[in-house]
Amino acid sequence: MEPRSTNRRRPDGHAEPPLDLPESLSPGLYVHVPFCRSRCTYCDFHVESLRLPIVREYSRALIREIELAGESGFTPSTIFVGGGTPSALEEQCWDDLLAALARNFGSGLQEWTVEANPESIDEWKMEVALSHGVDRISTGAQTFDEKGLSLLGRRHDASRVLEVHRMMASVGVPRTSLDLIVGWPGQQLDSVRSDLAAVQEIDPDHVSLYHLSYEQGTWLHTMRSRGAIDPLHEEQCIEASRFFLDGLASQGYQRYEVSNLFKRGGASLHNLNYWQRGTYLGVGSGAASFLDGDRWKNRPDVSSYIRSFGRPERVAEETPDRFTAAVESIMLRLRLAEGLDLARWRRDEGYSLEQICQGSLRQFAQQGLLIHEGDRLRISDSGFDLLDSILVTLIEDLEEASDVTGYQPSCRSDDRSSNPSPAGLDRG
Ligand code: SF4
Repeated sequence: MEPRSTNRRRPDGHAEPPLDLPESLSPGLYVHVPFCRSRCTYCDFHVESLRLPIVREYSRALIREIELAGESGFTPSTIFVGGGTPSALEEQCWDDLLAALARNFGSGLQEWTVEANPESIDEWKMEVALSHGVDRISTGAQTFDEKGLSLLGRRHDASRVLEVHRMMASVGVPRTSLDLIVGWPGQQLDSVRSDLAAVQEIDPDHVSLYHLSYEQGTWLHTMRSRGAIDPLHEEQCIEASRFFLDGLASQGYQRYEVSNLFKRGGASLHNLNYWQRGTYLGVGSGAASFLDGDRWKNRPDVSSYIRSFGRPERVAEETPDRFTAAVESIMLRLRLAEGLDLARWRRDEGYSLEQICQGSLRQFAQQGLLIHEGDRLRISDSGFDLLDSILVTLIEDLEEASDVTGYQPSCRSDDRSSNPSPAGLDRG
């Protein structure tokens, strides 16, 4: 039977946006563990192979950086330990890292997530995490199709993901999230059906559903260039993704961001803070920070991170100007199903965004890609499939209206390298 959405729907067919997302849980703390046992075929992240002496030295430097942040009075509302594969840390490093986080930031936290891969998390690591205050574990499953898992270069099989989730239920992990990938070469709707059946069995509070992308330098990119694999066509990807999303909706999941869904109030508070352009500190090699109007990254290479012993060199430092901040707000807020509050925009920015983008908004609304109701501007379900081109158009409108906005655009839309996504936000 085809999945049918049971989400609340309006007469025009668009799902109602979630109405109860909390506003601004700043600041967040992102903790980066860059090690993986092997590289997945789609991954272009800066990851290091798991060599024990290096991992131990890295953990010591990371704990020192955490302690220095704690001594400086930094008080996060949420923590996200991501990577890489945090659960690949050996037992002592896992315990020491989580203990240091609990010691320095344990009080007043509203959410503490750790990322885990099915092959490296076990009951002992879960119990240690819970004992330190972790209340959410996010697992990278990607798919439950064995052919898909092998093509994506994953180190686990489908039954291991189910086993790990049974363990999480038995040790009492309060909230769980599952990462999935749609659109891999050869994926059929039957495989999406079996992924949906597995999600139903596991019943996580949160699902991240990413489209497979072929990033330069990855094994999949090389194989595609050589004609050794046959990627799905764009229409097939969109069909598979819609089928997936409808199936998740029929299980009660609500899409609150372009790639993220929750049930039982399980939205990721840490990531919501990024999408609301809140502040955050990143610790670990390559981690990004945005605090007091400044943005920077820690130098990514692990050896220099270890040598710095808790005081990493900052690279890519910048103070976003008003124009950049406005562009980022549009790009981030329109990823959320609740969209952008136009009244607040008028108040904060001193001009009407809907007037500046009038022509484009009318056109997108007529095409059913965008919904403009009162003071709320949001992307429709079909608009999410074309989000990038909608954003480019709106930002071009903004650039052309500098006489009204008063911004001095610092870069053109065809030369924009600014990616407001910090490390750990968009991952597969
Ligand atoms: S996708 Fe995740 S587990 Fe795979 S190599 Fe990249 S960071 Fe590591």
